[in-house]
Amino acid sequence: MDNCQRCKKQRAVIKSRKETFCEECFAKFVSLKQRKRMMGDDFYRDVFKVSYNKDGTHGVGKVAMGFDFQSSSLVALDVIIQVLREQNRQHRGKVGFELDLVSIYKDEENLNQFKNSWQEIISSERYSGDDILNHIKIHLIDVNTFYNDKILRQILVHNIDFNAMAMKWEEDDKFTVAGLLKLCPNRNTRNDFWNTIVQHTVKKFAMQSHCSVLIWGHSMTRLADQILGMVIKGRGAHVASSLDTDNFDVSYGGSFKNLYPMKDILLSEIDAYTISQGLESYLVDYTLRRSLLIAEEDANKDKTNSMLVKNMTINELVRKYYDDMEGEYSNIVSTVLRTGDKLQTPVKYLEEGESAKKCSVCSNAIYSDPSLWLRSITVIKGHPIETEEEQVYYNQWKESKVGIETEQYMKLKDTVWENGEAIPLCYGCTINLNGIKGKNIIWPKNDKEELQNVLDEYQLTDDEGEDI
Ligand SMILES: [Zn+2]
Ligand SMILES: [Zn+2]
Repeated sequence: MDNCQRCKKQRAVIKSRKETFCEECFAKFVSLKQRKRMMGDDFYRDVFKVSYNKDGTHGVGKVAMGFDFQSSSLVALDVIIQVLREQNRQHRGKVGFELDLVSIYKDEENLNQFKNSWQEIISSERYSGDDILNHIKIHLIDVNTFYNDKILRQILVHNIDFNAMAMKWEEDDKFTVAGLLKLCPNRNTRNDFWNTIVQHTVKKFAMQSHCSVLIWGHSMTRLADQILGMVIKGRGAHVASSLDTDNFDVSYGGSFKNLYPMKDILLSEIDAYTISQGLESYLVDYTLRRSLLIAEEDANKDKTNSMLVKNMTINELVRKYYDDMEGEYSNIVSTVLRTGDKLQTPVKYLEEGESAKKCSVCSNAIYSDPSLWLRSITVIKGHPIETEEEQVYYNQWKESKVGIETEQYMKLKDTVWENGEAIPLCYGCTINLNGIKGKNIIWPKNDKEELQNVLDEYQLTDDEGEDI
């Protein structure tokens, strides 16, 4: 068995980017990459470091992080705790920032999983030895807060010209995220809506709690797969803004910047860190890859992905491509990310002096009208009925399930077109809505008022670790 190429002393257990590491050197390698991003420029350094005011008091940065109990967020938290500990030691009990973790749960079962894992984290030997967790707070938020107490609208896409209209939705029944996801024709659309809703809720939290930095634990692999996925799904115009860490997030009050401190770390490296540092038991609903572990190298060779390609979402397909590539060709992943980073927002498509419209569903900017493009590539107008035979077939169709659904859609469309208002929808969302049965969804009205709306937070009791 070979020794670690860094310290030359300990046994090598992990192999990545053609280099072998012992557990300790590998942990340093990962941690350093994350710290570099956290202290990468003046703005972030000022938020994270311990800074003193003239009167001797010190400023404390406010930081939020989306926390989904997957390997990336656990590793990000682990490294942040190391940073806090070092500050605490070097500055005699002072730290540079406080961290709010935001976890969005989908149902009661998911809430319990999160609660149990958090309980394990705060009582673990690794984290409970000192009072460092006093600077970290977790917020468990029900995903259905997205629909609660909001002005809801029914958004409908026109079957021929692809324009969209919205009408106030006033049914008494409560609308839920699970209800929305059930309408989706495939996992791809479901994931798209889920990600939009989670991202919106986390950003809203960051805005409402006056954070200066919002951390996303996305690995290099995850970001690269997001970039290609966006391009494939017709959301390419949003790649640049989704990776923007230089500017304040203007869609959410312009008070915080989004940071991806794990963007130089491959997912397989994050998973190897999770395993070698013993964080495995805190994972919720996540399958680790063990491809970088030297001891398991041979076992991994003939492992095939059990999911059928046709059942995979676009993001999973892209991920599978990287999985197949990552080991030897990790530079493909970093090239995609570097290219994505160089992209610019396509403002050149706007008329002079015109500002981009915002999509009523995903809130992204729209630079060119998607309905124009869709109309130019699709022929949807039907042929008029001319013979008796055609009329018979038409009547049969009308009584079929599809016929009845189509008629319901037409009725709804007439109502919405009469009483609703025209709204902007981006290409990706138009395609998503068009694929849903009835071509409509219920969605909250995204406006300033909605951003102030209270988030439904699960209150942890003292035993559960709210105040440790
Ligand atoms: Zn070593
Ligand atoms: Zn959209």
